Amino acid sequence: MSSEDEAVVFDVQRFSVHDGPGIRTVVFFKGCALACRWCQNPESRRPQPELSYHVDRCLPGCRLCVSLCPEDAILDRMIDRVRWDACTHCSACVDVCPSNALVMVGERWTVERLLDAVIADRHFYATSGGGVTLSGGEPVLASEFLRGFLPRAKQAGLHLALETSGHYPFALLEPLLPDLDLILFDIKAGGRQRHLELVGHDSVQILANLERLLTRDGGPELEIRMAVVPGLNDGDASLDRICATLRELGVEQLTLLPYNHLWEAKLPRLDTEQVALGIAPPSEGYYRALEQRFADRGVTGLVGEALP
Ligand code: SF4
Ligand code: SF4
Repeated sequence: MSSEDEAVVFDVQRFSVHDGPGIRTVVFFKGCALACRWCQNPESRRPQPELSYHVDRCLPGCRLCVSLCPEDAILDRMIDRVRWDACTHCSACVDVCPSNALVMVGERWTVERLLDAVIADRHFYATSGGGVTLSGGEPVLASEFLRGFLPRAKQAGLHLALETSGHYPFALLEPLLPDLDLILFDIKAGGRQRHLELVGHDSVQILANLERLLTRDGGPELEIRMAVVPGLNDGDASLDRICATLRELGVEQLTLLPYNHLWEAKLPRLDTEQVALGIAPPSEGYYRALEQRFADRGVTGLVGEALP
């Protein structure tokens, strides 16, 4: 869990060109209240650091971790070694593993440490028009921490972007707005029931927060995005609902993020209920037709870069 002093971060990715303008450092926070069936970062959901097991790194015959677990959650075999229903993510086994087959995902970062990490690349931001992007998980859940981090990052002259699902009380986001330059706001699906089925919550709070952002004077630039998942959120009824809502809110354009399935490779390593979807990345023709389907509904949908 995050606090004023610390937040659980699971990756700090330098030299990204996917998450906002220019060259960026993307900070991935752990913790999210949604359960999108296509979540690209299944390791981001749990707010605390968690165990991950990489069978490809396990050394045959080693067995150092076996019998060490206080919960008897480690089995004497390579495939499916961890009994996730018993594991408490205590990290005891990580310390004995010589090959990093057992590792913790996420660690606690202080404001100071994160500032040092992102300021290190300020030269690249300056020459490319880049900056720092807060991602996750849902970074706004680390609001207390960000209230300490963002003003100091702003003072250092950094361009600051936020990737968000919008699913939280607006009071968590509001104090962050003065220091943010850009919000990349994700729409998941159209229709209350379909939204609930696909991401675990309805869209009432998300749309209320989006409306508040759109009707504010000043504040960060807003880009609305949608990760398109063929067969799940791209049906006519879903698009009808999304476009009607966007038109009601006065939004004329959104960015369509092409689907990739790279996240499925992470599932066997994690304690997660997310399941593989087996959806192949669609063709160029699919996206051209998709742009037309949005245009037919009075909204400009521009296909952006594939999700990293
Ligand atoms: S993290 Fe702790 S509980 Fe989980 S397998 Fe390792 S030692 Fe056992
Ligand atoms: S300690 Fe690491 S390398 Fe050794 S058996 Fe356990 S997971 Fe494999």
